[in-house]
Amino acid sequence: MLTLSQSDIPFLAFIPEVDCFLNEFLRLESPAGESKICFGCLSSIGTESAPGYSCRLCFATQLRCKACVVKEHSTAPFHFVQEWKGSHFEPTSLKKLGLRVQLGHVPGQPCPRPLCATGDEFVVVHIDGISQVGLDFCGCPSSPPHVVQLLRHRLFPATVTNPLTAATFNVLETFQMLSFTSKCTPYEFVRALVRRTNNSGMVNVPDRYASFLRMIHVWRHIRLLKRSGVGHLIGGSGNMKSGDCALHCPACPRPGINIPKNWKNRALSTRFLYRLFMSIDANFRLKRRDVSSDERDPGLNHGIAYVVEEKKFRAFLEEHGNNIQEKSTCSNYDAIKSAHIRGGKGLAASGLGLTICSRHELRRPLGCGDLQKGERYVNMDYILLSTLKENAPELVTASYDIGCQYGGGFEGRCDSYPEDLNPFDRGHSFLFLVPKFHLPAHVLSCQPRFSFNYTPGVGRTDGEAPERNFSLSNELASSTKEMGPGSRRDTLDDHFGDMNWTKIVSITSTLKERAKEAIKMRRIQVDAFLDFTEALPKKSVTEWTNLVWDWESDPEDNENPFVVTKSVLSAGEVRRRLAEEDAAAIASGDLVEVHADVTPSAFIRQGIEIEETQRKFAADQKGLGTHSTDIQRARIIERSNSLQRRIDAWFTLQALFMPQAVAKRRARQETDGPPDPVYAIPLFLPSALCGSANPDTRLIRCEQQYRIAQAETTLQQLRNYLLFRSHMYNSQKRYSRGTRMSTQSNATIQTVTDNINTTATKYRQIRATISNLSSVTKNLEWERNLKPLEEADVRGLTSDADGGEGSKKLTWIWTTAGTGDDEDEITQSDLRIEWCKSRARAHRWQEECMLLSEELRRVLVTFEWEATEWDDRASLWLSPKTLVAPTPTLWNNVPEIYQREVAQLQDIRNGKVAYARRQASIRRAMIKSAKDVWGSLDTQLGTFIVNNSNKAKKLVECTDIPGDEYTGL
Ligand SMILES: [Zn+2]
Ligand SMILES: [Zn+2]
Ligand SMILES: [Zn+2]
Ligand SMILES: [Zn+2]
Ligand SMILES: [Zn+2]
Repeated sequence: MLTLSQSDIPFLAFIPEVDCFLNEFLRLESPAGESKICFGCLSSIGTESAPGYSCRLCFATQLRCKACVVKEHSTAPFHFVQEWKGSHFEPTSLKKLGLRVQLGHVPGQPCPRPLCATGDEFVVVHIDGISQVGLDFCGCPSSPPHVVQLLRHRLFPATVTNPLTAATFNVLETFQMLSFTSKCTPYEFVRALVRRTNNSGMVNVPDRYASFLRMIHVWRHIRLLKRSGVGHLIGGSGNMKSGDCALHCPACPRPGINIPKNWKNRALSTRFLYRLFMSIDANFRLKRRDVSSDERDPGLNHGIAYVVEEKKFRAFLEEHGNNIQEKSTCSNYDAIKSAHIRGGKGLAASGLGLTICSRHELRRPLGCGDLQKGERYVNMDYILLSTLKENAPELVTASYDIGCQYGGGFEGRCDSYPEDLNPFDRGHSFLFLVPKFHLPAHVLSCQPRFSFNYTPGVGRTDGEAPERNFSLSNELASSTKEMGPGSRRDTLDDHFGDMNWTKIVSITSTLKERAKEAIKMRRIQVDAFLDFTEALPKKSVTEWTNLVWDWESDPEDNENPFVVTKSVLSAGEVRRRLAEEDAAAIASGDLVEVHADVTPSAFIRQGIEIEETQRKFAADQKGLGTHSTDIQRARIIERSNSLQRRIDAWFTLQALFMPQAVAKRRARQETDGPPDPVYAIPLFLPSALCGSANPDTRLIRCEQQYRIAQAETTLQQLRNYLLFRSHMYNSQKRYSRGTRMSTQSNATIQTVTDNINTTATKYRQIRATISNLSSVTKNLEWERNLKPLEEADVRGLTSDADGGEGSKKLTWIWTTAGTGDDEDEITQSDLRIEWCKSRARAHRWQEECMLLSEELRRVLVTFEWEATEWDDRASLWLSPKTLVAPTPTLWNNVPEIYQREVAQLQDIRNGKVAYARRQASIRRAMIKSAKDVWGSLDTQLGTFIVNNSNKAKKLVECTDIPGDEYTGL
């Protein structure tokens, strides 16, 4: 029995102290220390005419006299004070005690001309609540407008004329951060402030929800401008350009900033380093209800950050929204998209289309826009085209889950759009791919064509960035759904900016982890590929290399080397064909329908699937051993029950399709002996009844076809295991030093060997079954490919790798051919595909290393560029030219007042210079930290296998790994 000590569960240590804590909480309910003397001035208090006060927020807990408590709060005017009534505390307020908050002067210093806020009813929303404050503006000559007076004390006015409410910068900043981290809504936050002010429900706390909404909206906008350097533009916000306020990815290529000017002169094999990898997708949770309107809520940002400018977007949709969208040719298109394509009543936007840089997951500038009526190409086109205008590199790899369809008509659609949007005129070229985990849902012909795995120059990019980002955006969905259009756009901009910023500050560690992984994986994959290549005849390697080259350079017009060319059918293909046959037979009346929903072929397929499950189950149970845990045993029982249910259901079908099997099963049950365990229950598929009278030939034919496909798959598995074991042997020879590592890899090799044996046995069983079935079908065509598997046949490509000596003669499992009679000639397409895949893996990891090395460089260059930008802004505002003379007013023709105005402008200028320098210094700190964190990673990524020049030579010679300058030759 495991016993946990107190140090394992720290809070247990608190239990004996609970009463102590409770006592101390209660002690604070009465004044600390002497209650008759003021701790500030030692005057006597505690009478009705001179009561004592204490502050709920201050560090001091002793009582003060009225004068002292007011004086002490001149710099903390929003605190909550309470009055000691002799028996208990009661809330009061600093305003009631006479505290005046004087703007425009040093705290504590009076203003000769104080101007009380209208009705003396000024309200401040602050971090501890919402308070009435006795606030006086400064009425001295040349005093700035009231709004400015508030801002200079870090108070944000709720209105620009005659403000009667303000929020502290602190409360706005805190809310903004909370909204990023917890997606807290303004409504929830203001409610919390109200209850924090007074939670008894007896006091009327001023309602400032509407003001707060307005303040936070403008606050977000102004902070965005400040961070983007708009405050440093000559002419200010009037001179900013579209997209100016978006945070760009420091690792992605940006012409003129972080990529070489002459990148086009680089070797062809390295040009992919200057590609932009971008993901396109639609988020259907970021909806907007049809509330308010652009007239009533136009928003503030207007295409300066991530969301596209609304008016231009609308005009574009009006013009092109009715263009006819090409019909989909990927038959699975509907399966991929139908779940999403739903309009929705009362929705102004059914979702948000967005573009993200795939490798680093930053939102692209001006790369988001509303969707209406599902995911129309025209909306996505506009979003994609507008983000491309933001200094995007010429080469673009765009990943999109419907990339096969979308990319096809893209160029044609662009032709009909306005010239300034057309990317082809600006020299862009596109490669559309489908994200890795979405690809299996596409039709077979899409699979190699749009694959990140097989396409050269994409590294290990997977294109799945939107998926990973959506969980974040989804939390945003509920808080933005009910917003007016402008507020929603601005809120999205703010959140996207924050998401980008968090990615930027963590880019150093993100890239570090990736680089470490890539260096490791490249070594493994390149070695595996070289081992494989070495085992093959030179002739085949040359032939296949040419095939891949042709395909890579022109995938449209060349045979795809990743595709099976031989005649053997996959299980899926068999299923499709049989289903077609069934349908035709039913239509022509040749097939008696035994069951309304299940066709004979479906019945056979289910039987074979159950048999596979039984086999897997038996293996898992055997592997469980005697030391299994309760949870493992419980899972086995669960699986056993569910398998039993499947078998029972299938047996009811069997009673209809194969009545003779029922008799056979009954006969078995009547014999003595324990009942069969679930994994060994005989199913009596047609092959088991071939010898009986009147076999159902249709069922037998079905089974034979499925079995042939099953045998092919099993052979394929066998080859994979053999390849893997060869590789294990080789890498063991190469890397294993010390017994521990060698024991580990021995154990792995043993597991693989077990798998090889099990798979070989399985193949033999299936082959026997097929042979049995052919006694009825008389179909012996399969014997050409599926030969008897002898022990000696189960060998890797090189017998050396399996421990033996001698020849490189390949056993039939490697040469079994769909065509050709010469067995030494490797025409076997499985082997070619295996080799192509192995090559692709080696290449992708090498490209990944190259990309990462380039990205490390770019991050540093970009940060340095940004630092220089901020330096330039600092210098700009330091130069005397930018010191603008004060605008003439009623007052400042008096020299003294004019001088004061100049001084104030100088203060602003100093602030701008200081801010720019602070930003530059943050960027330089980021550069330093990145260099420290990365250490020698860049060298490791670049020079590879530098110690083995023999191997490096081979790499370049016969295996065309990209980037020869990276091999260290
Ligand atoms: Zn006092
Ligand atoms: Zn206080
Ligand atoms: Zn004054
Ligand atoms: Zn990026
Ligand atoms: Zn497709």
